[in-house]
Amino acid sequence: MNTDLADRLIDWFGQHGRDLPWRRSRDPYAIMVAEVMLQQTQVDRVVPRYHAFLTMWPDVAALAAAPTAEVIRFWSGLGYNRRAVNLQRAAQQVVAEHGGTFPRDVARLRQLPGVGAYTAGAIACFAFEADVGFVDTNIRRVLVRQWLGEITGGDAAAIQQLAERVVPAGRGWWWNQAIMELGALICTARAPACQRCPIAASCVEYAQRRAAPALAGLGAAPHRVVAERRSEPFAGSRRYYRGRVLDILRAAPPDTIVSYDILAQQLAATAAAAPTDAGWLQQLVADLARDGLLVADDRGARLP
Ligand code: SF4
Repeated sequence: MNTDLADRLIDWFGQHGRDLPWRRSRDPYAIMVAEVMLQQTQVDRVVPRYHAFLTMWPDVAALAAAPTAEVIRFWSGLGYNRRAVNLQRAAQQVVAEHGGTFPRDVARLRQLPGVGAYTAGAIACFAFEADVGFVDTNIRRVLVRQWLGEITGGDAAAIQQLAERVVPAGRGWWWNQAIMELGALICTARAPACQRCPIAASCVEYAQRRAAPALAGLGAAPHRVVAERRSEPFAGSRRYYRGRVLDILRAAPPDTIVSYDILAQQLAATAAAAPTDAGWLQQLVADLARDGLLVADDRGARLP
C-alpha cells in the first residue's frame, strides 16, 4: 500500500468528511442498524430514522424482543421492508447464538440474516476497527478508477481482493470511511471532481483521460465504464405493490386480519392500474408471508 496515498486520502477525510452519527459510534448494533438503513436509503433520510430506531430499540436485546409488527411499522417510508425483518432476525440470532455479543470477524458476521459481504465488512471495520476490505458502489467506483482505470464490466472477486489489499495496516476504519466519502462527495458516478481529489496524482483513470484529450469532449462518457446499478421504474412494479400491501396492513389496528377483498379494494384506490386478478394478489401476499413480512391464511393477512 502506498502510504502517501493513504495519508492524503485520510487527511482529506479528516478535513472534509461529514459528521454522521454512526461515525461517532463503535457499537456494532448501532453500526449494523445504520448500514442496513443506508443500503437502499439516502444519508439525509437515514439520519433521523437512525436516531429514532435507536431510541425505540437501544440495544440488540431490545430489538430481538420487539414485536415484529412494530419493527415493520417503524420501517414505513424507508422502503425494501425485508430489511426490517432481517435486521430483527439478525438481532435475535446475536442474542440466541452469541449471548447478545456481536461476533467480531467477517465470516461469523456473514452468517447473520441479511448480512452480506459488504455489511459484515462494515461492522467488523466500523465497530471493531478491523483492517478489512469491502466493496459498495462508492468504494468500487473509486477503486476501479484509481487503480484500474477504464475497464469495462468488472470482476467482483478481483475488486474485492483489491479492496482488501489496499487497506493500510492499523488504519482500516479511517481508510474505509475515507474512500467511501470520496466516492460520495468527489469521485461521483457522472461528474468526478478530479481537480479537488486528494489522490488525483496517482489515479489511473484520470491519467488516461488527460492522455486522451479527445475523450474530454465526450463529457461524462468516459465514466460510464464503471457500471452502476440503475433503478428500475418503481410505480407499478411488484416491489411497489408489495409496499402498498404492507402500508394497508400498517394502517390497520394491531392484530387485525385484512381480507383479500379489502386489500384488493384499497390497492385499487391507491393505484388505479393495480391488477384485479385474485390469484395475483394471493401470490403477492404469499411472497410477503414467505419473507416474514406478514402472516396470511384463507381469511386474509395481518402483520406478524
Ligand atoms: S482523480 Fe478523479 S476519477 Fe480519480 S479517484 Fe479522484 S475523483 Fe475519482
